Amino acid sequence: MLKIELSKPARKDTYLYPIAKMLKEVVKTERCMLCGGCVAACPVSAIGLKEYKPALVSNCYVCGICYTHCPRTGLNFDEVEKHVFGRVRTLEDKIGVYSSIAVAKAKSPELNKLGQDGGVITALLKYALDKSYIKGAITTKKASSTSWEPTPFFANSSSIHETAGSVYSVSASNQLLGKVYHEYADFVGCNLCLNSIALVGTPCQIESFRKMQFSDHGKLKITDIVSFTISMFCWGNYHYDKLKEFLESKGYDLSKITKFAIKKGVLTGYENGKEIFTFKISELNNIKMPACNECTDLTGELADISVGGQGVSEGWSFVILRTEFGERIFNEAVEAGYLEKGSSETATKALNEIIESSEKKKTQSNTYIKNSQDPLVKLSHRV
Ligand SMILES: Cc1cc2nc3c(=O)[nH]c(=O)nc-3n(C[C@H](O)[C@H](O)[C@H](O)COP(=O)(O)OP(=O)(O)OC[C@H]3O[C@@H](n4cnc5c(N)ncnc54)[C@H](O)[C@@H]3O)c2cc1C
Ligand code: SF4
Ligand code: SF4
Ligand code: SF4
Repeated sequence: MLKIELSKPARKDTYLYPIAKMLKEVVKTERCMLCGGCVAACPVSAIGLKEYKPALVSNCYVCGICYTHCPRTGLNFDEVEKHVFGRVRTLEDKIGVYSSIAVAKAKSPELNKLGQDGGVITALLKYALDKSYIKGAITTKKASSTSWEPTPFFANSSSIHETAGSVYSVSASNQLLGKVYHEYADFVGCNLCLNSIALVGTPCQIESFRKMQFSDHGKLKITDIVSFTISMFCWGNYHYDKLKEFLESKGYDLSKITKFAIKKGVLTGYENGKEIFTFKISELNNIKMPACNECTDLTGELADISVGGQGVSEGWSFVILRTEFGERIFNEAVEAGYLEKGSSETATKALNEIIESSEKKKTQSNTYIKNSQDPLVKLSHRV
């Protein structure tokens, strides 16, 4: 397995033209999954997003942070796992390191209904906010009641319910890390706000966060404001304009769709509870982000807590508790009546289905990675 040291730049010439190298090697090659990490990490806000791509928008000071913080210029998984979980995974850890699993749902009927599956992510965040473990959470929500454009959103206790539900398009929500660090610090009433927010994202967004967290660019980092991370499961994602164009070409008006769901390889659109369309995910392969082809992570293997809807009944979520803090906050939320736990038998049964799906995704992506001639593809994954 190829390895890089997180404490060193990915390549010797990194400091020459870091942003140009990142745009050439990650963006132009369509390997960028729009995590927003580089936008957050640039200390002079020289990177913005244009047409779903990072771009230079003002003067660059050639510091190299964007290149070394991008997860797609290389990630040392062993090093990250040692830091986060205290150990590197073994062959038995098929869905990454974890301490326990559960099936759960939000106890509040309102949150359970608003949630994509069991409303677990929202209920957990609500508990952490109410208990003042965190002051806010980086999340994603729809742009408006009629637009499914994903919008990164910094939620507090009174707005967290607005973020319930999945938006099946890429949200560059990690960009908010920089904004929250620099601009919201006063707003939430603390100076550096260490360990004061939660970060919710797809597995690649959590990878992006971990790369930033353990890159050696000074000891005080924007990632220090994050207390814990929650990843949702993810098989693949789409740029909003492509998904919209696809559905409109089939005659569907997205503004009328009240809920989307992806289950068992099928995308379903609902209007007020009534099923309007179904498409096999394979029919959407042409519009899937090319960056997803090299992604081996279904469940968010570097997060504190992972949540998905696979293998469980309607209205419930499958939860993987990976770190001590993740486990603690989940158990506290159950005890405090924010979450209801299902039986351990249901969880064990669902686990087999999830491991099977995860292995399928790894097999597909590993073949892609092994066949790729680009050395950065191999450096960015564990193969
Ligand atoms: C693109 C995508 C693909 C997915 N694919 C699968 C899959 O193949 N199998 C599976 O079991 N589950 C998948 N999920 C996860 C599933 O849809 C639910 O998010 C998960 O089960 C948690 O449900 P919940 O009711 O507990 O969460 P909720 O309480 O509804 O909370 C959902 C959270 O997700 C965040 N969110 C919504 N959209 C996005 C987005 N685009 N990017 C980042 N964060 C977002 C919200 O901010 C919110 O905090 C996918 C989710 C997404 C966004
Ligand atoms: S200033 Fe640094 S982080 Fe920002 S674009 Fe230039 S090299 Fe990248
Ligand atoms: S940090 Fe994220 S958004 Fe920026 S180039 Fe890398 S993958 Fe793309
Ligand atoms: S499949 Fe992987 S790369 Fe693509 S959006 Fe999901 S987590 Fe990110």
